[in-house]
Parts: sequence; structure tokens; C-alpha cells
Amino acid sequence: MLSIPLGLPECKVIKQELHSYGYAIHVEKTETQEHCPHCGFATSSVHDRRTRKVRDLAIFHQPVYLFVKVKRYRCWNCSQVFSASLESIAPNQHYTNRFCEYLYELCEGSTIQEVSRKHCIPYTTLERIYYSIASKKAKERQTATEVSSPEEMVLSLDEIAVKKGHQYETILMDAKAGSVMGMHADRQCDSAIHLLSQKVLSKERGQTVILDMWEPYHKAVRALFPSASIVIDKYHVVQKVTQALDQARKECSPLKKARYLLLKGCEKLRQDQRHR
Ligand SMILES: [Zn+2]
Repeated sequence: MLSIPLGLPECKVIKQELHSYGYAIHVEKTETQEHCPHCGFATSSVHDRRTRKVRDLAIFHQPVYLFVKVKRYRCWNCSQVFSASLESIAPNQHYTNRFCEYLYELCEGSTIQEVSRKHCIPYTTLERIYYSIASKKAKERQTATEVSSPEEMVLSLDEIAVKKGHQYETILMDAKAGSVMGMHADRQCDSAIHLLSQKVLSKERGQTVILDMWEPYHKAVRALFPSASIVIDKYHVVQKVTQALDQARKECSPLKKARYLLLKGCEKLRQDQRHR
């Protein structure tokens, strides 16, 4: 059996097994005394023990399940029964906090649907995890921006595919920090206005907003920040120019089969190619 640090300092490993479904690691909290959440009294009187099955980060592509033995204590002072708290696992959560963070990162580079399928996490569960972490990060970012210096902000308003090619949502990001400031379930002008109306984005502050060519976003930015500089992502401009060039080429017969020549830099063309 392999031996690597589990990285959960509050727990000790009791035993580990390898099953067909992955690793099963049995752990227990090392602390033998807890403070009552109702009255704050410290107690070490164990009422009973229960086992929670919690999914953790995979090891060598094998899923890892922690079987956490959780003690329930009876408070000497107020007689209430309560479970020992765990720093790495939220109450009623079937995943460790770090596994939730990992899933969030995966969704950032893909879609919730894709990650849900690949990692066998129910879609609605993953959606709940994703939005809870995204909103926590947005709040942290908002607090940090409120206390930071009033230098110019660079925002990025973009669309992301939630279900590949089927549903788009609007995402507002702080482009300098690369962090999410908010999301909305569609890409309407009103939704963009709602996102741009956050308290931290004062009209007095200089703003640069990076956009694609989606008109409702432009309308929203012009409505809220008339003096903002709008930067259109180079990718979208190149895409439009290439489409227009292709269209013009198809309508002009001598150029019909010259797509490659048209897109190549003039200085790189041979004499006969230039002539064409
Ligand atoms: Zn108590």
C-alpha cells in the first residue's frame, strides 16, 4: 500500500484499502475534546460514533473515499448532543473542501455538464458546489477591491457556455486579477447592467471594459459608464474580418481558390503569387 501524507492535519489514518471503486481511507479526528456549539463548554464525553463517507482528491486517477469516524459528544453543561466539527469537510457535505475547490477549477476550464459526467458527480450537486464557491470568491474579491487603491479597473464582460453550445451565461471578471466578480444566467442587456451595478464599480473611477461584439453588452456598458474605454477582444475582430474576406472572395471568381494567398502576408508571396 502506498504511503503519502493525507494533508488533513486534524485527522489520523486508521487503515486504508484498495477496492474496485478506488481507495478507501479510514480516518478519525485526533482531538478528543470539543467545545459545545450551544454554550461553549468544553467536553470529552462521547455520546456515540458515526461514519461519514466523503469523497476526496484522487490518487493516481483512482477515486479516494474517506470513511471519517465522527464522534458525537454530550455537553456536560447543557446536555445537548453535537457532532465534532471538521475543518476540511463542511457539515452535510459528501466531498472534502479541497475536492470541491478542485471541481470548481475544472468547471472554470470546461462546463458543469462535462465535469459532472467525467467525475460522476450529480449535475445539481456540482452546480450547487460551483455557484457557492464562485459567489464566495466574488465576495472576497469585492472586499479586496473596496480596500485597494482607486487605480483604474479593467473589467471583462463575456459569455460562457454552461451546457456546451446550448446555454450561455454572462460572466463579469476583474481582468487584472483574473477573478470572477459575478455571473448571470443569461446574456441580456439588463443582466449585464445588473452585474455592472456593483458598488465597487463607481462611475467616478476610470474603467476599461473588454467585450466581444455582442450588442447588449455594449449597450449596458454605455448606459452605466459612458466614459469607459471599450476594448474589443482581438480574437473577435479577426474572426469577423476573416468571415467578411471569405464572403467577398467567394463572390469574386478570380479569387475563389485563393484563400491561402489572401491570408498570407504580402512580403512572403512569390512573384507569380503576387501577380494573381
Ligand atoms: Zn453545551
